[in-house]
Amino acid sequence: MKQQYNEAEIAARFICVDCSVDTCESNEYYMVQDAVWKEAGMTPDGGMLCLGCLEDRLKRQLKPHDFPDYPINHGVFPRFDRMMNRLGYRRAA
Ligand SMILES: [Zn+2]
Repeated sequence: MKQQYNEAEIAARFICVDCSVDTCESNEYYMVQDAVWKEAGMTPDGGMLCLGCLEDRLKRQLKPHDFPDYPINHGVFPRFDRMMNRLGYRRAA
């Protein structure tokens, strides 16, 4: 039997659990190291956080080493400036 997914449920997975921003729409779809996610009080299937809320929870700015070397973090999705900055990419000013 084919499993049915509710579209609203799938969309809800991309909503930041703290501020309700759509992380897919803002292109802040990313993965961080398990330890960083745990440090923020999140469980693996506990939903999404936008970068701002994750940093609020950590009380620090994210650094490139907080992001594992997965394709999802490197150019699969168009990148939001804040995301580019945290990943260590520099834009020509
Ligand atoms: Zn948020």
